[in-house]
Amino acid sequence: MYDVAVIGAGPAGCMASKRMAEAGYKVLLVEKMKLPREKSCSGILIPKSIQMVEKEFGEIPDTVFSHPKINRGIILTGEDGQVFSFESEGYNIWRNLFDQWIAHKARDAGVELKDLTLAKTCEEINDHVMLTLKERGKVYHEKARMVIACEGARGIIRKNIRKASGDFIVTYQTFSEGTIDLDTDFFHAFLNPHFSEYDAWFNVKDDHLIIGVGVKNASMMKSYHSKFLSFLKSHYNAQIGKPEKVEVGIIPEIRPGYTVDLGEGRVLFAGDAANLLNPMGEGISSALASGYAAAEAIKSNIHGNDINSGNILKSYESKLNPEIEYMIRQWKFLGTISPNFG
Ligand SMILES: Cc1cc2nc3c(=O)[nH]c(=O)nc-3n(C[C@H](O)[C@H](O)[C@H](O)COP(=O)(O)OP(=O)(O)OC[C@H]3O[C@@H](n4cnc5c(N)ncnc54)[C@H](O)[C@@H]3O)c2cc1C
Repeated sequence: MYDVAVIGAGPAGCMASKRMAEAGYKVLLVEKMKLPREKSCSGILIPKSIQMVEKEFGEIPDTVFSHPKINRGIILTGEDGQVFSFESEGYNIWRNLFDQWIAHKARDAGVELKDLTLAKTCEEINDHVMLTLKERGKVYHEKARMVIACEGARGIIRKNIRKASGDFIVTYQTFSEGTIDLDTDFFHAFLNPHFSEYDAWFNVKDDHLIIGVGVKNASMMKSYHSKFLSFLKSHYNAQIGKPEKVEVGIIPEIRPGYTVDLGEGRVLFAGDAANLLNPMGEGISSALASGYAAAEAIKSNIHGNDINSGNILKSYESKLNPEIEYMIRQWKFLGTISPNFG
């Protein structure tokens, strides 16, 4: 029997599992993909993320950075063309390499890390959770006293428990060579419903110009992307080559009335799986913070063989409350810039 099984080796899962293993608990971390796995992301670590990563995982290795290494902040252009500049120095990393590095750090701390292992179901039975896992075609079961589902947006564990998927936004981004009259040290976001149903963005990683849009209706992603590209050509003299890489991703859709979902019983949710996401799709900081809070809540409420899952959930909620309040404040602020997010 594991003390804790963690599902998904992204920032939330690596943080949660490492914290538990370091405290001496028996921890399983399953990841359905082969590591290093691709994760569609702009790969910007804001200062809050950097602080948590350096404190928990140590100095970030050079191999993980993309160029320019420093992201100087975000420049936001509203529908009416008004520009807001938020300067703040963050890092620019490649997610596949970054996530592999933190997963290995978790493994080095004593976590049993299994990639190519899909968690299919979690069923609470008396004093434990029965997990059904599928590893390279073989289906088997493991028991854990607690589970932390860190499976990202639209995971199957949360869907099975809640009997529904949360609302989500589909992201579509292309990587091309080219030139543009925008400051490539910044992340540029555009809140214009003519070329995105959520937001559209431009940033640079190594020699790639990345152009992305968020949509509610996936069948519209290419048409919005092409409108955004035309806008970048006409307004910023963009000369963009043929895409060398195309990525489709998912983020939770945060809109008025949404709820953060931290789980129930012996299954906690963290990161995107809990519906935690900050404006402009910044979610690594809340994934790290929720993975941390989930682990601390479990640690402070396990007494020998005794587990009170109700107390764990309450403790998780209260530890994460400042993060959630911060997130709500940020979304409300965005609502003052764009009525779409009001
Ligand atoms: C286009 C785009 C750009 C973004 N840019 C940024 C950015 O610049 N900065 C930022 O902070 N955030 C950004 N985000 C958001 C960020 O990527 C997420 O908020 C963050 O990755 C959430 O971390 P997580 O650990 O919750 O989940 P994830 O990182 O999604 O990790 C979940 C893991 O669980 C695995 N998994 C899923 N289901 C199962 C299962 N059943 N069994 C086993 N494994 C499973 C997945 O393979 C995955 O590895 C961006 C998102 C998108 C889509």
